[in-house]
Amino acid sequence: MVPVNESDQRASPASQGGSHVDRLNALWKLSVQGGLSDPERIRAMLAMAAEVLDMDLVVLGEFGENYTAHYVSDRLGLFPEGTVLMVETVLCHAVFLAREASHIADLREHPLYANHALVNKLGLRTYSGIPVAVGDEARWVLAFFRTRSESPPDAVDIAYMDLIADWLGNALHQSAQKDLLQRIALTDLLTGLPNRRAAEERLQKEKARTQRDGLGFALALVDLDHFKTVNDRYGHAVGDEVLKAVARRFESGLREGDWVARWGGEEFLFVLHGSTVDEAAGIMERLAGQARATPVQTSVGAISLSFSAGVAAFGTNDSEILPMLEDIDTALYRAKAEGRDQVQVAVPAHVQWNSALLRQALAEKRIRQASQVIVDLQSGQAVADEALARIQTATGDIVEAKDFVDMAEGLGLMAEIDRQVIRDVMQRCVNRMDQGGATDFAHFVNVSPQFLARRDLVEEMLANAMGYCQTCSVMLGPVKPIVLELTERQRIVSLAKLRADLQPFIDFGFRLALDDFGSGYSSYLYLAHLPVSFLKIEGWLVSNMRQDRKVAGIVESLASFARKEGVLTVAEHVEDAETARMLADMGVDYGQGWHFGRPQLAGS
Ligand code: GH3
Ligand code: MG
Ligand code: MG
Repeated sequence: MVPVNESDQRASPASQGGSHVDRLNALWKLSVQGGLSDPERIRAMLAMAAEVLDMDLVVLGEFGENYTAHYVSDRLGLFPEGTVLMVETVLCHAVFLAREASHIADLREHPLYANHALVNKLGLRTYSGIPVAVGDEARWVLAFFRTRSESPPDAVDIAYMDLIADWLGNALHQSAQKDLLQRIALTDLLTGLPNRRAAEERLQKEKARTQRDGLGFALALVDLDHFKTVNDRYGHAVGDEVLKAVARRFESGLREGDWVARWGGEEFLFVLHGSTVDEAAGIMERLAGQARATPVQTSVGAISLSFSAGVAAFGTNDSEILPMLEDIDTALYRAKAEGRDQVQVAVPAHVQWNSALLRQALAEKRIRQASQVIVDLQSGQAVADEALARIQTATGDIVEAKDFVDMAEGLGLMAEIDRQVIRDVMQRCVNRMDQGGATDFAHFVNVSPQFLARRDLVEEMLANAMGYCQTCSVMLGPVKPIVLELTERQRIVSLAKLRADLQPFIDFGFRLALDDFGSGYSSYLYLAHLPVSFLKIEGWLVSNMRQDRKVAGIVESLASFARKEGVLTVAEHVEDAETARMLADMGVDYGQGWHFGRPQLAGS
């Protein structure tokens, strides 16, 4: 036999798109070309095949419940990638069923296809369908179409199509295996959660995203309490069951986009998007409450479990995650040391908050405010907002009320903080009305008994308020747009004195709201002694009413009680549409919470 060398072959009559060797070369080059992702390489392969075989449309699709055209090379611009069709309507369905190639020179003359939309409407004429084996599976078909009818492909063309189909089958198989391996490498096999490696990779992505879109996230590290005793008492297998059940529970408690990973043995890391540290602590408290209330079901019966958690928030001012994880670890250690079953907020090393810094922030007027919208649950309209105090540190960090209020109260500085916040709220109210804002929109602002007890500050505030009300272009009625929120967090010596302290404001037309109603035992005493216009239903009740019918019952009876008393109700911590709907059905008037809007820092 005379050996055939390459140049001989190249000299042989070339079918369209070059000689067989050229075609093989093109295929080989694409196979080894670097820098392409798997999908890119597959797409390039289809484009090359379309070119070489002079096809108008090449589709690599998969049959499952439906048919999906995963990869398409389309000169005609008719058939988009990702098209999903009903299996029976697909032209290459027969190839899928028979697992045999089919070549049709003119579809118009074929009894089965003459009326097919691809033929009728899109004008396709010549067709080849080739089954593509991906590992053991035969669900993929490669289809070639031309708008001209020609004689069926010759043996060389068919061999080339088969080769491409083989190559694609291998490429799909390898790509699927790579994906599978990657998934395995990043998944914790016991719980199915992302493992620590995956979590570390994701954290880097979260960090990059935060710097890109300015939306921070909170981190929470959870460690199960006394987990060793579970293993000791019931055996390691039951310990594993508990870990699995806990993982499922954590996962199902997440909002969309948030995630939880298995960070270590019985440690879990949560990432909560757009949450402040307070909000994250609230979420973790809720999960802790759920853990406390609902034991985990295992094959040896129910096992009670609690956990401790450390939380911190990662914002645009933060640059590294590692130090934050260390801070969280310290907080978690503190939670364990202080008796377990609790959530501790990490104190960032660079915000070592203390009384000297607090005094300095006050002296430098670094009190800021955030406002959170309050919505009418029936109409969905924003009817009010609440001003929340924040302190800006000298380095620009924002400290939330929760982190300084206790200290400020202890140091007797709360009156000054309230003074600045109230002044800013009134200013904001005037600005809003200057811009044509509604006169019946209310601003809720928290006041401490310390503030109310200071006659000089009260008088100053009233003088300010009168001045502001006069400058307002719209004449206000007897009711003014400011609502003072009172909480019983701080022990009140005498309700009669509090009432007397509040009287000038009430006379001026400010209204009163009872904050955290339902959280303390003297709530009803307040209600009995003060002319209250609003009850703010405590967030815990609202957060738990969906899962717990008893809690829902409490909220409902609070609402009907308030209605009878002519008091408007505001539900706090409304985090989802379902809760908002339930509250509206119960006759709660207003809602406040993430579902409607997060606190927005004024001027940001
Ligand atoms: P605490 O955290 O409250 O201080 O007490 P602890 O008993 O949970 O203590 P520690 O965190 O030191 O111990 C964790 C235990 O979790 C030890 C280890 O045997 C167990 N553990 C870790 N990984 C697994 C696992 O995959 N399966 C089972 N069954 N147990 C695990
Ligand atoms: Mg541990
Ligand atoms: Mg533990």
